[in-house]
Amino acid sequence: MVSIQSFEFNPFQENTYVLYDESREAVIIDPGCYEQEEKRALDSFIESKKLIVKYLLNTHCHIDHVLGNDHVKEKYKVPFLIHETEFPVLKAVKSYASNYGFVKYHEALPDKYVRESDIVRFGNCELLVLFLPGHAPGHIGFYCEKEKMIIAGDVLFQRSVGRTDLPGGNFETLINSIHQKLFTLPDEVVVYPGHGDPTTIGEEKISNPFCALSIRS
Ligand SMILES: [Zn+2]
Ligand SMILES: [Zn+2]
Repeated sequence: MVSIQSFEFNPFQENTYVLYDESREAVIIDPGCYEQEEKRALDSFIESKKLIVKYLLNTHCHIDHVLGNDHVKEKYKVPFLIHETEFPVLKAVKSYASNYGFVKYHEALPDKYVRESDIVRFGNCELLVLFLPGHAPGHIGFYCEKEKMIIAGDVLFQRSVGRTDLPGGNFETLINSIHQKLFTLPDEVVVYPGHGDPTTIGEEKISNPFCALSIRS
């Protein structure tokens, strides 16, 4: 059984997730920790549960999701995985981080690329990689079929969707990702987004105004 711990980090109120199971193996997804106390909060959780971190994963590489990559990679000495198309998005962060006041940002580089249909394993859990472009060009989600949950980044939010006005964003592509990949998952699948509260596929199919609009048009 997979347990999930979320943290809300940095001024963008970004959700950082730690997934782990009874084997104590874990993955850290989108560590947005920047300030020392944020890093401490993440580390003390890992320590208190005696977790063995296996991977550092990014759904995509906008600044709010990558601020703690360097800390996690250094501290836990784990491979860092992203989709290849997201590499330039990651590389760009260094050039604009200080504009947002993140002068202490240190870049961490990926060790391996993952793509659609790859499986990321930790403990007794398998995460299926889904390619979900639109908000960012190399955006991916991590779907655990057994637990009926997906870490979906900034694609689908409770009653909202990810913005598409950043470089590499495209609204039509985003809506296609939602309809073709997310809305074909079972209704009871819980969606853990990059910002805000969790929702379910079924709830968003019925009440998400952005997705409903595109069905009508
Ligand atoms: Zn984003
Ligand atoms: Zn975000």
